[in-house]
Amino acid sequence: MFDKILIANRGEIALRVIRACREMGIKSVAVHSTADADAMHVRMADEAICIGPAPSTDSYLNFAAVIAACEVTGAQAIHPGYGFLSENAKFVQIVEDHDLTFIGPTAEHIRVMGDKITAKDTMKDLGVPCVPGSDGGVPDLETAKKIGEEIGYPVIIKATAGGGGRGMKVAQTAKDMESAFRTARAEGKAAFGNDEVYIEKYLTTPRHIEIQVFGDGKGKAVHLGERDCSLQRRHQKVFEEAPGPSITPEERAKIGKICADAVAKINYIGAGTIEFLYENGEFYFIEMNTRLQVEHPVTESIFGVDLVREQIRVAAGLPMSFGQEDLTINGHSIEVRINAERLPNFSPCPGKITQYHAPGGLGVRMDSALYDGYSIPPYYDSLIGKLIVHGRDRQEALARLHRALGELIVDGIDTTIPLFHALLEEGDIHSGEYNIHWLEKWLEATYG
Ligand code: ADP
Repeated sequence: MFDKILIANRGEIALRVIRACREMGIKSVAVHSTADADAMHVRMADEAICIGPAPSTDSYLNFAAVIAACEVTGAQAIHPGYGFLSENAKFVQIVEDHDLTFIGPTAEHIRVMGDKITAKDTMKDLGVPCVPGSDGGVPDLETAKKIGEEIGYPVIIKATAGGGGRGMKVAQTAKDMESAFRTARAEGKAAFGNDEVYIEKYLTTPRHIEIQVFGDGKGKAVHLGERDCSLQRRHQKVFEEAPGPSITPEERAKIGKICADAVAKINYIGAGTIEFLYENGEFYFIEMNTRLQVEHPVTESIFGVDLVREQIRVAAGLPMSFGQEDLTINGHSIEVRINAERLPNFSPCPGKITQYHAPGGLGVRMDSALYDGYSIPPYYDSLIGKLIVHGRDRQEALARLHRALGELIVDGIDTTIPLFHALLEEGDIHSGEYNIHWLEKWLEATYG
């Protein structure tokens, strides 16, 4: 086992990893930018080291600075959290070249899954059901139009290198194809340096269902059920739950096994998420994330396992501490993402926290790096906390969420907390009847 792990991240996820390290008796090293000198992860780690100025390209994304920080502190492994370097195959290669361990999948698996076309081809070959669409990349508008006619409108044009909801455009009819095709290409080029696009049938009322998988890198893998992340704004998740209210135990067992078998076959190591759209009882693969997800705590809550601890174990060459037969679902869990954003436009709202009070009590988990007097810097993601609740069933989890939101105080800035108070007034949220368009429609109707 490692003696010391460096965490190449900040905010709540850096704390999450530090906590797992501490429980395992492993020393933790925090890295930070000059803007984060007072951040909670810096205070909580055993050691901290400044790796550059505020912009993340010069600090959290700076390969050389992160590697040098390992050498200076004697850390043997790097946990990337999510975002930043977590899905950067080049970085993983460099980590390996320096005889350090990357706590995550291999550079090769990240590369394959990081390109959505290769990912889809690989998954199709492994027997995972996919959204009907083009066979790989679409070179020009003529071909795009032909494919549109073949699969039928509406279609979605997606940048193969896309992510975070960027590089995707819907064409409702043949008339929209030209502008959608050009925009998706331009966005892919501008945001990811790659203008290759592909086309999929646009599903009109799907839910977003993702399967958590975990592999030991030696051909053994399990699944930890699904998360329903259908409540999205601009393709970004805001509310996640497990188990999914629409999924039956039979469906879970079937799609879960397909996913676990697929990743076992490629000797996948560590945590991964296979994302699907789910409509009329069918699952359609859209992408795989080769890292820990923001919403992993809802899975931890219902299975009672620590996914970060498990990531560290397998990275150190130890066997997984659970098999499929050990994994049974207990109750229901919901996570809401607290962002430093001003409603109704969700514009970023960094600034000084004048008062912070985290909720507590049975079944409540608050993952956040906030504290009284902390100043949220303007340079990074607006996620400032995740409130996760667990109950014996969905109804109890919703009541607990309502109660915990009432206890949560974040003063000094605007946050998304009022959004969740309002959502809990909605019958559809209580009945679990929502799809990926529900929230956008509700926001439009509520805020205009
Ligand atoms: P990203 O990598 O940017 O997150 P994804 O491929 O995971 O992109 O898709 C993100 C979201 O976009 C999905 O959760 C869904 O809301 C929507 N989406 C993607 N593909 C389709 C599709 N074929 N039909 C309908 N909606 C889609």
